[in-house]
Amino acid sequence: MILIIFIYLSLSLVDKAIYKIGLTGGIGSGKSTVAQIFSNLGVPIIDADIIARELVAPNQPALAEIVQIFSSEVLDSKGVLNRQYLHQKIFSNKQAKKELEAILHPRIIKEIYHQARQYMRIKPYCILVIPLLLEIGLEKSVDRILVVDVPESLQFERVKKRDEFPNEKIKSILYTQCSQALRLSAADDCLINNQDLITLAEQINCYHQYYLSLAKA
Ligand code: ADP
Repeated sequence: MILIIFIYLSLSLVDKAIYKIGLTGGIGSGKSTVAQIFSNLGVPIIDADIIARELVAPNQPALAEIVQIFSSEVLDSKGVLNRQYLHQKIFSNKQAKKELEAILHPRIIKEIYHQARQYMRIKPYCILVIPLLLEIGLEKSVDRILVVDVPESLQFERVKKRDEFPNEKIKSILYTQCSQALRLSAADDCLINNQDLITLAEQINCYHQYYLSLAKA
């Protein structure tokens, strides 16, 4: 709770001059694909997953804090974070998950907004790709929420093809994410990604025009 209040306060104090679209959706829904198409249209993309990875690179303060809590067992022989091992550790341990989130989430948010500020007065709007936008309570920190929607069977199929994960692993990831119904209830805008890439790009073009007009207003 304290963490959510902290994140909310820090974000509401941030300069709102650049219009921010929070892009979210479940694993394999098509967030990266959508982000790439927006990027091709010249829209700056800020990706929470990339930031999270950079924050736990060797010698980063966040990594030192993680080691303090989880011991050096979370590092491989080269001092690199073993993400799979860490995921296993937190999967069935809510307290450990909370501790990890307390280290990472405020830093991720700070960096997202640091990057967003750099586009102020240069670009009309930016896309923040935040897979867990709803799970970590960032709804009020963006100007609009854009959800990528895909039927679960197709989501499953695309993840299987992309990552070659076994069914059980995909199910366990889906289990940690909020339901698509919840996402849709929070969405201002929605991309239906159940057809080909051309159809997806057409929808994105329409939203791009719409966001340009909103940002101008
Ligand atoms: P996410 O970033 O949400 O996990 P991705 O953008 O990586 O999802 O998409 C998951 C997989 O599905 C990728 O291999 C991507 O190329 C593929 N994909 C996404 N959208 C489509 C589409 N409209 N048609 C065909 N393949 C798609």
